[in-house]
Amino acid sequence: MAECLFCSSNGLFSTVEHIIPESLGNDDLLLRDTVCDSCQNYFGKEVEQFVLAKTPLAFWRTFLGIKTKKGKNPAVNLSQPKIDKGVFPSVHPAHDNMEFIYHDDGSLSFGTEDLELEKKIVSGEKEKLILVSTPKILYMLGRFFCKVGIELIYSYNPELAKSGVFEKARRYARFGEFNGLWPLFHFSKGEPSDFREYREDELGLIENVHCYSYHLFLCIEQYWLFLFSMGTDNWIISLNDPFPNPIIKEAFPNNKLNLIWYTQNEFK
Ligand SMILES: [Zn+2]
Repeated sequence: MAECLFCSSNGLFSTVEHIIPESLGNDDLLLRDTVCDSCQNYFGKEVEQFVLAKTPLAFWRTFLGIKTKKGKNPAVNLSQPKIDKGVFPSVHPAHDNMEFIYHDDGSLSFGTEDLELEKKIVSGEKEKLILVSTPKILYMLGRFFCKVGIELIYSYNPELAKSGVFEKARRYARFGEFNGLWPLFHFSKGEPSDFREYREDELGLIENVHCYSYHLFLCIEQYWLFLFSMGTDNWIISLNDPFPNPIIKEAFPNNKLNLIWYTQNEFK
């Protein structure tokens, strides 16, 4: 009898799990009889919906023009909530409440509900938009990366993915259980324009959009690292050990990694 990877229940398993959400363009990385309907439902509503609406991944999805499941152009509203609630702060005063909309011609327009901000942009007082990744955003991204990383491990080694090695990451992904925020490393690479390529053939102009990429590595035979890249953002998470050992940075000698790490005490 099948046992759910995340909650150990015996199912139902009536739907197929997309390791990376369908709305980021994934239609071939799938798991069957592995993640129960109730966990799939939970991840969809509580983790992925937020990640695809409020995080840098949501921005890149719009910027890169990855169409919705219904074939519509993407749009994103990165406004923060008016008041903070929950354990992890979701409001930062330096953040600019912006919306972005992708158009058929490949352009991106932006707007804001914040009249003060609009005035500053129009007058030229504000030249650069600031989008802050709050602890709430980092918390949800970390849970999302743990989910995707563990499911990828499962796809080639089910026993390893189910083993005690990844127990903490499974529980962080599914139940949000952890003291503080699971550390993330981040680096930026390239220019936004690098992710769209144009070439011509006899039928006309072809546009290639690079949506996302991922890698799993075993670093110094000790840290299972999952790297997820979208646009110029690259995120790395250690799936089996949430201690951010500086040695992890050495696995990426050509990139300047920033460690983002909050302990539980910072949220009291
Ligand atoms: Zn389950």
